[in-house]
Amino acid sequence: MICIRGATTVTENTAEAILAATSETLQEMIKKNDFHVREIISITFSATKDLDAVYPARAARELGITEAGLFCVQEMDVPGSLPMCIRIMMHVDAFTKTQNNVVHVYSHDAAALRPDLSQPTKKSNLGKPTRPIAKKIPPKTPPQSNTIAIAIDGPSGSGKSTIAKTLAEELGIMYVDTGAMYRAVALDCIKNRVKLKDESAVTAIIKKISIDIFYDQQGRQRVILNSEEVTEQLRSPKVADGASVIAKYSEVREYLVAIQQEIASKQSVVMDGRDIAIKVLPFAQLKIYLDASLEERARRRLLEFESKGEQADFQTVLDALKMRDKRDKSRKNSPLVQAEDAIYINSDGCSIPEIVDIILQEFKKLTDR
Ligand code: C5P
Repeated sequence: MICIRGATTVTENTAEAILAATSETLQEMIKKNDFHVREIISITFSATKDLDAVYPARAARELGITEAGLFCVQEMDVPGSLPMCIRIMMHVDAFTKTQNNVVHVYSHDAAALRPDLSQPTKKSNLGKPTRPIAKKIPPKTPPQSNTIAIAIDGPSGSGKSTIAKTLAEELGIMYVDTGAMYRAVALDCIKNRVKLKDESAVTAIIKKISIDIFYDQQGRQRVILNSEEVTEQLRSPKVADGASVIAKYSEVREYLVAIQQEIASKQSVVMDGRDIAIKVLPFAQLKIYLDASLEERARRRLLEFESKGEQADFQTVLDALKMRDKRDKSRKNSPLVQAEDAIYINSDGCSIPEIVDIILQEFKKLTDR
């Protein structure tokens, strides 16, 4: 067993700042010491008295660290001590490491606490959610064998997200909605009046963007775009349409695929999208291609709008879906296609529980082998 220490500071006593800084430090501790979240036995967090907006342990739960013992305490108020500081002590059952090759993480103002242990940190946007760690280099090796990866691809309105979410709940693992990430990029472009058809302008946005994913207490995926919670804004038809435009640019895809692979390398996931089985998680144990007829998908979308009290007409919804299908299936970069080893399911006329049941049966076949 090893003990890893970490500390960080924030500039404001808000839940957002505390969760972002704690999450960043936890991810660095995991990345620098190269172990799996399942190997964590316990984590103790302490916070100085000036921080009480949220328990920092919530950041661990939102990263999918649900099996380890988590405990938060308030620190003594020693005169002259570092203000707004969060300290972390993590015990890990890592067989390949010994205490003398552990990397501790002291970031932001907390770096001054242990200059002998800390690595140089870049000047950062303290107090703001930070860009998730990851990125450009996708993992070359399959995910660790003790994690589950289920990939669900299919066209818009095929029921992917509802089914993937229900499945993840049934299996007690994380649901990752990758479409929301493409939507976040489109929303950022719209907010900054960047023309979606201008590839170099969209690529410039990608270089500055900060997308953070977290899960609320009901386990729903929430998205923070450049410090703003935008989950509901992502559902608008304009953003959905924009997402299918910017999704064809290779820099956008590379950036988002790396984030998605990073998430799946750390915990079990059900991930849905268009390129999950082929590009993001080619090692997924179970791959599903979920389809439905255009008319059925348009009917479902219409019901979705109506349930939110929004006006929509069938033909407009159908035409929008048709346009997005065309873009998603005909683009050069990662078009929507069924992977050879994916199971095809047509959800026309089937209920959500029926489809979830079919997928669970397929999953059971794998685990019984
Ligand atoms: O699934 P959702 O409708 O939220 O996706 C929005 C758009 O994002 C899709 O129409 C598609 O163009 C793009 N997307 C993608 N690859 C993914 C997920 C979504 O290209 N893995």
